[in-house]
Formats: sequence, structure tokens, C-alpha cells
Amino acid sequence: MKTGAVLFAGCKPEVAAGPDGRSIGVGVRARDVAGRDAELVRLRGTTWPGLIDAHIHLEGLAERHLTLDLTGARSLEDTLARVTQWSAGLPKDAWVVGSGWYNDQWPDPAFPSRRHLDDAAGGRAAYLRRKDGHSAWVSTAALKRAGIDRSAGDPAAGVIDRDDHGEPSGILRETAMQLVAAIVPRATESDLDAAMARALAALVRLGLTSVHSMDSATGFGSFQRLHARRKLPLRITYNLPLADLHHAERIGVRSGWGDPWLRIWGVKAFLDGSLGSRTAEMLDGSGTVRLPQKDLLEMVERCARAELNVCLHAIGDGAVRRALDALAPYRTAWRYWRPRIEHGQCVDPKDMRRFARAGATASMQPIHAVADRELAGTYWPTVSGHAYAWGALERAGARLAFGSDAPVETADPLLGIDAATAWRRRAKWYPDLAVSRGSALRAYTSGAAYAVGIEQELGALRVGMLCDLTVVDDGRVVATVVGGRVSWLRKPSPASRRSGAGAR
Ligand SMILES: [Zn+2]
Repeated sequence: MKTGAVLFAGCKPEVAAGPDGRSIGVGVRARDVAGRDAELVRLRGTTWPGLIDAHIHLEGLAERHLTLDLTGARSLEDTLARVTQWSAGLPKDAWVVGSGWYNDQWPDPAFPSRRHLDDAAGGRAAYLRRKDGHSAWVSTAALKRAGIDRSAGDPAAGVIDRDDHGEPSGILRETAMQLVAAIVPRATESDLDAAMARALAALVRLGLTSVHSMDSATGFGSFQRLHARRKLPLRITYNLPLADLHHAERIGVRSGWGDPWLRIWGVKAFLDGSLGSRTAEMLDGSGTVRLPQKDLLEMVERCARAELNVCLHAIGDGAVRRALDALAPYRTAWRYWRPRIEHGQCVDPKDMRRFARAGATASMQPIHAVADRELAGTYWPTVSGHAYAWGALERAGARLAFGSDAPVETADPLLGIDAATAWRRRAKWYPDLAVSRGSALRAYTSGAAYAVGIEQELGALRVGMLCDLTVVDDGRVVATVVGGRVSWLRKPSPASRRSGAGAR
């Protein structure tokens, strides 16, 4: 008779899972504990605790299956060619919606104009988000439908770029994006859910067993529908936008509500913009303040009172300092107070020790450094030595949680681990700011679990904890296990066996 136990055998260590999805044996005892009737999953490689991405945008990943993906376009011409090709298949009155363009990677990095887009989109309304999500490129028809003309004023914490004649140029920054985004037609629920399922399946293939999502209620709705149909292949901790805080307060939901597959944790707020959009708030006074200090203090106070956590997006050293100032009085607000500072791409050395004092996790995305290195050299020449400073923050006692910020960067956690460790030496870019492989792995497992208060259940290979595993062989993920069940298994390919070519 089957006991319902599963034995993951042949990997190191071997692990046994019980029918409830928890680990019942780890290492040499796993076989005995599993018993002779256990279902056997034969693997090889190293068994890690399941990898967790601590900062991801699932709606953005799903959108790639619904809208035009401009990722990787190497020039304005290349980008426009893709727009032309996509638009050709659309009705005359349809919107052209897409994302992923990245002028910093074009030979001429100047921001493009609506006129380029008008031709390529065949006169249609077009809304194209930049790779970093902090600006949008729109067509003349889109501006018209949104009622934006030369007389329109900039919204608070946003900019409508203008040309030499004072006309809107077609670039909308930060909150100005919303003026057009609000009228872009939305995908149907079933289309969104199908795209979301594809996006989640792709993450599981990368070895991810949990993610911390930074999404809107639209995404949360999709997660709930997939969960109700038992279609979640990995665990999602959802962080809601600041605009929805008053709803959370009214219904009294607290951090941790939900179940191990889908739970609510924090409230995400933007203190500043991004390096790429030149809107990171710096101590030298440059950049954009998206959430003034008065509003930030009020938010932290309300969240602490409501027993909700905070995820504070702060990229520039000025924004990081403001976040730490706001968190300082709340060291022990309540039992599961786990405030997080998201990105923390530039932290003044004087502020590094303050993370530990405030109990703040540094939620960072090492892969950003690989893409941003040259930009940082250009825009942050005097502060690069303490930018993307995982190693220095760790030495200063800060807790680290790592993620990808996908779709801004690739969600591949093995590339993230490489970026955090060996890459800095290869790139000859402040190698002392790297962390060890052990530290990087902890930031993707136990550190990320701690950042959402679930460290008793996830983030380590331990009997009694939820059995989430990532098995890696030859530098490639070979199996992803969530709750003691295989979520994804690499098909054996004879050619790839022991060639050694996959080593990172
Ligand atoms: Zn993000």
C-alpha cells in the first residue's frame, strides 16, 4: 500500500516528503523514513532549499504573452520595425500596447518621440512602457484620446516631456504614465489567466518555488482564480500597492493572511524612480521624490498599526535615507514587523548600519548591476563604489533578500547568484562588494523567507518544513519541487550528460 510519501533520491542530500507536503527526512535518513512504498523520483545534483524570488512583477511577465514585447531591440529602427510588424495584424482602431524598449541600449540613447511611433503604429493609439517601467512612449493618437495637449500640466510626481514647441513629445514619466495607462483597454480575465499560467510555468522551469509579487489587484485576482483551480505551480506572496492600503485597513487584513500557496504580506510604495529614467532620488538633490516624507511617515504609521508590512522602493541614496528615517522609530512595531527596502541600489556608507538597527531587510536584485554597470558609471560616477553594495551591506549587518525585478531583468536565479558572486570579479567592478555563494543562496532562500515572515516554514532543508526544493546539476536546474510534489522536471537529454559545458 502506498504511504503517500515521496523520496527524492540520487541528489545530495536526498529528501523525503510526507503526504502533507512537508519534509519528513533529509540526508542519510531520508530513505528509511520514506519507507519501501514511497514514490521514487530519481534525480542527480545538489539539493538546495527551494529558490525564492523576493521581488517580481508577475503581471508584467504575463503581459509579455498578451502584448508586444520589445525586449532586446538594439536600436530605434529595430524597435520601430517590431512595432510596424505587430501593428499590421491589428484592426485600425485597436491599441498598440507593449513594453521592454530600452533607449540606453540603442546607438543613440536619446528618448524617442511620438512621431516615430505614429508612423510605425499606422496612426493607432500606442502605449509602450520602457524596460524599467518608469516611463512610457505614446503616440499622438494616444495623447489625443487621453486629452493631453500643450495646455496639460504635469501631474504631481510626474512629467509630460515637451518638444521645442512646447507640444507633448510622446514621453510620459512616472505618474504621468497613468494618464494614458488608465484608458488602455484591459485583457479579459481568461486571457490574463492563460498568460499568467504561462508566465508562472516559465518561472518554475528556472527553479523558482516561491515569489514575492509586486502587482496590482488585477494580478491578485488572477492569482486567486488560478489558485482556486489548483493551478499555481509555485507559491506567491502578494504585496499590494499603496493606493489600496485604505481597502486593506477597512477589511482588516493582516500580513500573512492566506495559505502557504497564496498569501498577503506588505504594502509597496515608490519613494523615487530609477537610475535608467534619471529619477533616482539622490542625496545631491537630483532625481524625483515620488512619495514625500510626510506621506511616507503616515504610511509607515498606518501599516504598523494595521499589522501590515512595508516594501519601500528606494533606489537613490536620498530615498534610502528617507526610508531608514521613516522606519527608525518602529523597530518593534509588532511581532511580524519585517520592513523591507526594495532595490537599495545606492546606499550612503553612513546609512549601511542603519538597516540592522531598523530591522530592515535589503531586498536587492543583483542582476541589475550587470545591466546597469555602464549607466552607473555615467550617472553615478562618484557613488559607484557603494552602489549595488550587497557585500558591504552584509558586512554592516543588514539582512539580504534577493530577487530579479523581472520583467525588468531576467528572472533566472542562477544568473542572479552569479551576478552577486563571481561576476563582479570577472567584470572588475568593485569585487569587494560581491558576496559568497553561501550568502547569495541564503538571500534567495532563508533571507527571502524571513522577509515575508515565513522562515519557520520555508528557506531551509529541515524536517517539518514545507518541502520545496531546487535541484541543480552541472550549473542547470534539473528539478523544481513545491510542497513535496514535482512542479517541473528537466527531460534527460543524452547529449547534455556530463559534458561539463553547462558549468557556470
Ligand atoms: Zn520592481
